[in-house]
Amino acid sequence: MAKLVRGFKDVFGQEADALTELETSARKVFKLYGVAELRVPTLELKELFVKSTGDTTDIVQKEMYAFEDAGGRQLALRPEGTPGAARAYIENNFANTDPVKKFFYIGNMFRAERPQAGRYREFEQIGAELIGSAAPAADAEAILLLKDIVKDFGITNYKVKINSLGCKECRPVYKKELIAHLSAAKAELCEKCRERLQRNPLRVLDCKICGPKFTQSAPKQKLCPACAEHYEEVKTLLRGKIDFEEDTTLVRGLDYYTRTVFEFQAGSLGAQNAIAGGGRYDGLIQSMGGPDMPAVGWAMGAERAGIARGEKPAKKYLKIYVVSMDKTANEAAFNVMQTLRTAEFVTLGGLFDKNLKAQMKQADKSGAGYAVILGENEAKGNYVTIKNLETGAQEECPQKELLNLFKLKR
Ligand SMILES: [Zn+2]
Ligand SMILES: [Zn+2]
Repeated sequence: MAKLVRGFKDVFGQEADALTELETSARKVFKLYGVAELRVPTLELKELFVKSTGDTTDIVQKEMYAFEDAGGRQLALRPEGTPGAARAYIENNFANTDPVKKFFYIGNMFRAERPQAGRYREFEQIGAELIGSAAPAADAEAILLLKDIVKDFGITNYKVKINSLGCKECRPVYKKELIAHLSAAKAELCEKCRERLQRNPLRVLDCKICGPKFTQSAPKQKLCPACAEHYEEVKTLLRGKIDFEEDTTLVRGLDYYTRTVFEFQAGSLGAQNAIAGGGRYDGLIQSMGGPDMPAVGWAMGAERAGIARGEKPAKKYLKIYVVSMDKTANEAAFNVMQTLRTAEFVTLGGLFDKNLKAQMKQADKSGAGYAVILGENEAKGNYVTIKNLETGAQEECPQKELLNLFKLKR
């Protein structure tokens, strides 16, 4: 029997509807902010992710779908969207033609995580990348853009956390202090953190095992004056527009972040509660061989956002189900369906090879408010029978009056 690959899933019904609604909200808000779509390949050279996402991250070390193709190239299915967007920015030479770019993407990502409840190896991310501005306004805009999408989609129960990780001037100083502090208690660190202590001590604070032991005692980041001023201005721009908490332990799991980082967390998701996160990545594009171009961006897990919102009360669309009782009425019934659709009524039906009972059962199941029924008499007399599927009430209506009648019910 045909079978799914472990860790993957089929998406349909309410879950698929939620993804479509989220994409619709996102596209609407992106347009308001002047953010344009960028579509990049799902497959890239593996090296792209190793060098950008970072070779100390779990994503690159353990979770990448990487393989060698028939031509001997080392490729990987994208585990996240930012590296591809940064590569596209560099390769298309936008820095020289149109340096300030606001991009969004909607696409599937792949991570070979250990399959567990609610986590799959292919998932959708919606992301934004605002490239070309170092101004605090860009950070604030990125965060408010995300908030507006979350709000339009209908998630109400969420928290926003922000932090600043400093820059290439002040971060190394902090890293050194942190390494010294953590080294003194090296025996208490988990194996993974002992390994990454020298290269990426910030990740220790992010570790599920070690984080809680050290967040209280660890030295706090001291921002250089430029970073402190930048962070203050980001907060000033956000105040009054969004509720946020400052959290000095927020470091995000990727290597390339500088200065502002942020995360949207949903109360309903439990321990793994992030629905979206991001930050500034001023050094990334240059480190990939591009120009020195500041940027800020975020990504949202679409399935997780859907879970966080939960089932939305179904919008009362006027759905109409068309039924033909008789072979001689099939053509008239089919024409009625097409006429209703031209007037933008959601129109279902067309199962004319089934008997009346089976078609009415399908009509009830579909959630339609009304059934439009045609038999031999209706077809000959150019009228239809309309049944209210909630109350059972029936009425007759001339076919040419049908649109007007439903427009009144809409
Ligand atoms: Zn700094
Ligand atoms: Zn650890």
